Amino acid sequence: MMTRLQSSSRNARHNKVAEEKTPDTNEELRQYASTLEKELQETNEGLVALTLEYERAEEKYRNIFENSIDGIFQINNEGKFLIANPAIAKMLGYKSSEELIECVPDVKGLYVVEERHNQLLKELEKENSLWDFESLIYSKNRDAIWISENIRKIFNNSGVAVGYESIASNITLRKQVEERLKLVAKVFGHSLEGIIITDEQTRLLEVNKAFTDITGYTAQESIYKTPHILFSGWQDKAFYNELWDKVKKEGVWQGEIKDRRKNGEIYVQWLTVCSIKNELGRTTNYIGVFSDITEKKHTEKQINKLAYYDVLTGLPNRSLFNDRLAHCIEKANRGNGMLAVIFIDLDNFKYINDTLGHFVGDQFLQMVSERMMSVIRKDDTVARLGGDEFVIILEKINNISDAGLIAKKIIGLVTQPFSLSNQEVFSGASIGISIFPNDGEDAQSLVKNADTAMYNVKEHGKNDFRFFTEKMNAKSAETLKLSSDLRRAIENNELVIYYQPQMDLKTQNIVGIEALVRWNHKEKGLVPPNDFIPFAEKSSLIELIGEWVLQNSCRQYVSWKQNDLKELKMSINISAKQLRNKNLIDIIQKTLNETGMNPNLIELELTESAIMFNADEAINIMQKLKDLGIGISIDDFGTGYSSLNYLKRFAIDKIKIDYTFIRDIETDHNNRAITKTIIELAHNLNLKAIAEGVETKGQLDFLVENNCDEAQGFYYYEPFLISDFSQLLKKFG
Ligand code: C2E
Ligand code: CA
Ligand code: CA
Repeated sequence: MMTRLQSSSRNARHNKVAEEKTPDTNEELRQYASTLEKELQETNEGLVALTLEYERAEEKYRNIFENSIDGIFQINNEGKFLIANPAIAKMLGYKSSEELIECVPDVKGLYVVEERHNQLLKELEKENSLWDFESLIYSKNRDAIWISENIRKIFNNSGVAVGYESIASNITLRKQVEERLKLVAKVFGHSLEGIIITDEQTRLLEVNKAFTDITGYTAQESIYKTPHILFSGWQDKAFYNELWDKVKKEGVWQGEIKDRRKNGEIYVQWLTVCSIKNELGRTTNYIGVFSDITEKKHTEKQINKLAYYDVLTGLPNRSLFNDRLAHCIEKANRGNGMLAVIFIDLDNFKYINDTLGHFVGDQFLQMVSERMMSVIRKDDTVARLGGDEFVIILEKINNISDAGLIAKKIIGLVTQPFSLSNQEVFSGASIGISIFPNDGEDAQSLVKNADTAMYNVKEHGKNDFRFFTEKMNAKSAETLKLSSDLRRAIENNELVIYYQPQMDLKTQNIVGIEALVRWNHKEKGLVPPNDFIPFAEKSSLIELIGEWVLQNSCRQYVSWKQNDLKELKMSINISAKQLRNKNLIDIIQKTLNETGMNPNLIELELTESAIMFNADEAINIMQKLKDLGIGISIDDFGTGYSSLNYLKRFAIDKIKIDYTFIRDIETDHNNRAITKTIIELAHNLNLKAIAEGVETKGQLDFLVENNCDEAQGFYYYEPFLISDFSQLLKKFG
């Protein structure tokens, strides 16, 4: 390079000399030579000075080249480094420039990613030079390096681009910071939590997208305003003072706070406020991070509602009731007051539910709860304990009779018909009342005693109310014992069946027998059914007993038949509860199969009141029984309220005139008339009439006179055990 510079300078000088005129004398020649020598000397001196100057300049640039922290290099089109300073060698992980120049690095001269190379070429095609061209490259060790370059194309003498030269600075650190900032910005932008950054005067500097989503205010609308734009008025001044006090003292506050959205809606948020301090410890910014927990709060409320309220009626449930009662007792205790617990059990809810379906049952319960709510004061509580059991707390009563008044009102309201899915449904309520402090000092005993009083009402015909008395407790203990004893009686086969003949009044022959159960009690001896059947009717025990009687009477009957005894009809009593049991037909069918009993010889006695309880359903069942070949008679006829309209639709064979009419037939004019009418009615409907409880000849004569078909009573036989039966049959057979 130096040579080229020197020769061009010499040429310039030579040209200047050649331009001068040529000498023609010796003197002139000498002079010319001396001038020439002088000039030459001057030129040489100049040349030395120039060379020195040049060398100094070159050294200066070389220093820059060698010591620059930026990489300086040239690369030809083949990707080979032509020039490379130590900085670029170092940047790329080489020991020296020479080492870098000697090797042929990867893609076109740098350990570049393909992308950079292509982009570079594209750009260079448009421009001869590029400024601040940023790209990612790799070092010899495959470390990623970000560089920023100023690039210029280089050309050969013919003006053809042969490569490029570049000054490159390592910007990896800057890039990393930038990337991190970008990431932070992304988090800020994408966060589902609202984030705000304020200055020290709590003016908003930055808000994120979630802030806008939650509050409805855009960044533009909120920048330089304070969070006061969200003020809802739900928290007072003291609250905010406390908040800022804590942030200033401890650097952070967290809590629940209600704010107002742009559209005016109040929302609940979980908010964290922190202060940001500079190196000098001065607060420069505040950061608020918050999430909208309105929905969560709502769900919490719902869950709370589910835990403490009955879903169907919206009334407090058992747990809330217990809490409230305990609370009321505490209050009454302090104020020496009285309170009442009213326990309510709906009559025939189960029946409504079973026959009309759960949907109607639910509707019914909702209507009942509304009616109950209408009779109590604001401070009182109506709760649903489950099923058809409700309970009321009367918080403050002055007289015990106040509770009775409410109970009366409830009975009045519940007895009014309910119109449910296009039909009128009737109900009633059995209500027991206990009073604090008389009947118990804690919630548990008050509820228990009100419940006992309610049971007492149930036992005495339902749809009424009673106050708890100590006597009831004794009675309920007895009831409990009876229940377990009776269960055991069935298991231990302590039940026995007596049979009472039924006589044909024309022939005076036995035409049938009625199976009547007794309890052979170890201590009490023979217990009559009236002492345990009504009790068993209240629980599922009656179904066990009924099934036992059905099975055993049939089995016994079949065993007599094997002794070749005369065929008689056998009457079996079916209780109201059995009649309502959906499995009745199956149970009977099973009994027939198991015992081999002829269904044509069975006559089931259904009481009039059991049939009328749900006449339509009874008609259905009676038809099914008839289809099996079984006969049916209506027991205790005259004591229920048969609609004549229904009577003709019943698939029955016989009407059994209740003994209460027969008892006074000789003396009571009315009973005579009634008995006569029933017999005529039966005959008009093509049914037979049988009289029960016939004890005297006079009664019998009246019945014969009035064409009654059959009779049963002590006048003929009292019910007796089978062992006697064979003899009897021999006598009449
Ligand atoms: P019921 O079905 O009306 O039975 C007739 C009752 O009258 C029987 O009482 C019988 O002993 C009694 N009796 C018969 N003739 C006379 C008489 O001339 N004078 C008097 N004073 N009474 C007479 P028992 O056996 O004590 O049965 C009472 C009730 O118990 C029955 O009344 C029936 O409702 C029920 N019962 C008896 N056995 C069963 C049974 O196996 N299942 C069901 N569900 N109920 C039964
Ligand atoms: Ca009977
Ligand atoms: Ca009867």
